[in-house]
This record gives sequence, C-alpha cells and structure tokens, in this order.
Amino acid sequence: MLTIGCHLSASDGYLAMAKESVRIGANTFQFFTRNPRGGAAKAIDEKDIAAFHAYCKENGIHVILAHAPYTLNAASADPKVLEFCENTMRDDLLRMEYTPGNLYNFHPGSHVKQGTEKGIALISDMLNRVLTKDQTTTVLLETMAGKGSEVGSHFEEIRAIIDRVEYREKLGVCLDTCHVSDAGYDIIHNLDDVLAEFDRVIGFDRLRAIHLNDSMNPPGAHKDRHARIGEGHIGQEALFRVINHQKLRHLPFYLETPQTDNDGYAAEIAMLKNAYMEDNQSRT
Ligand code: FE
Ligand code: FE
Ligand code: ZN
Repeated sequence: MLTIGCHLSASDGYLAMAKESVRIGANTFQFFTRNPRGGAAKAIDEKDIAAFHAYCKENGIHVILAHAPYTLNAASADPKVLEFCENTMRDDLLRMEYTPGNLYNFHPGSHVKQGTEKGIALISDMLNRVLTKDQTTTVLLETMAGKGSEVGSHFEEIRAIIDRVEYREKLGVCLDTCHVSDAGYDIIHNLDDVLAEFDRVIGFDRLRAIHLNDSMNPPGAHKDRHARIGEGHIGQEALFRVINHQKLRHLPFYLETPQTDNDGYAAEIAMLKNAYMEDNQSRT
C-alpha cells in the first residue's frame, strides 16, 4: 500500500492532523514542530497525544514526519544563530518522544561564505550536541536544491555530515524530488542512475522518506520552487516512476506542493494512489 500524506498545519494538535489526513485520503502527514519563523512550540497536550495514538492505530497511520523550522541554520557563523538552532532541535527531539519512533526532518544549513567544508563540520557538530543515545526518533537530513550556500545538494556532503556524527544510527535522509532535480540529479531521465549513486555515496538504508514535489524549474536550476504534481519540469510520469520504483515504493511520501487548501492535496493523493501499482503488479 502507498504511504502518502502532505504537509498539514499543526495548530489544532495531533489528533486533528490525523483526522484531516484520513479525510483527504492520506495515511501519514508532515507538520512543522513550531512556527517556521521560530518562537515557542505549542505545549504538548497529553490527552491529545493519547487520542492521537488510538486514532492512528484504528486508521492505519504508522509513521509521521515532523519538520524543523526552515529558519534554523546549523551551519551559521553566528553563535547566537547556532544556539537558537541547538535549543530548538533539542526541544523538538524531547517533544518527539511523546510520539516515539517517528521521523524529524531538517534542512542541513547554509554556510554563508564559510565554505562547504566548514558548513559540513558545523552541521555535524550540531548533531553531536543534540542527538542522544536513547532517543527513538530518526533525524533526517533533507537533500537540498543548492540555492545560495545551502549544504546538502550533493549526496557526498550528506555522507560527510553523517560520517562525523557519533550516534549516526539515529540519522537518515529525506529525499526531496524538487530539490534533487534542482540540484542537477536527473530523476526525469535517469532515476535508476541517481538512485544507484545515492546508494553508492550514502547507502539506501539511510533513505527514510521522500518529499514528493514537482519543480517550477528545469534540472540544475538551484532554485527550490515547488510545483504541483504534473505541473512542473519533472512531470507526472517521472513522479509516478518515483512512487512505483522498487527501491522507493515502501517509503512514506509527503507532498509539499503549492495548494490553496487541503482539498488540493486530496486530489493529488487520489491521483497518486491511482497511479500506484500494488505489489503483485509492480515492476521496476
Ligand atoms: Fe524541507
Ligand atoms: Fe522538502
Ligand atoms: Zn523546497
């Protein structure tokens, strides 16, 4: 079965997100742990969490993906920015233990003129400060488009970060289809080659989630502007190949496409479920 969901607003709590997911035909969801512009996270409501767990069990939701605020920068040269990042990630990971065994995704960071090597060192230092031996959450490094001085647009950079982290068994990767295409990996014509490269450089066992987005720009544009499925340069056919690929089809897929409301996501989810070949009819 296809595991698919979209980015939802977290303002009404966990149970509300799970119910909204079911309403739009999803069986997973992504949410921001707090307002992307930073600030305090909503207090955890234990009653909401308990009702959420019961609802997920009944409705077949078995994984969720929390997204760190995209304003964090673990590769900043400013100690204040690093401190804010550290405090936020540590607090997010503590909160994640109310929903154990799930996924927490973050943008590795931007080195802002310090160079990629320095950025890699700063990001792995940050992970070494916030990861704990006992956490049940897997922290995902998102593959980036390479806009500005973003670190993580080459698989090698992600591998280099992971290699420097002590508790690297707590790390995984979230592959964003818009970002990898913008970074120059041709998933339109050479999906097999891109995945083989991912496996060679990072290892398939690290790949834990997919952000499924079309791109407003051609491969290699380094822009990071998402388009709806089939309305961008990657195209519907290539994205259908992604969800059906033998090496990817078991992963959870998250839509981050521009929509005016969640009914737009519902239509995309229905289309993708329809395009997904069940196991007995699958091919590579
Ligand atoms: Fe992201
Ligand atoms: Fe993404
Ligand atoms: Zn993006």
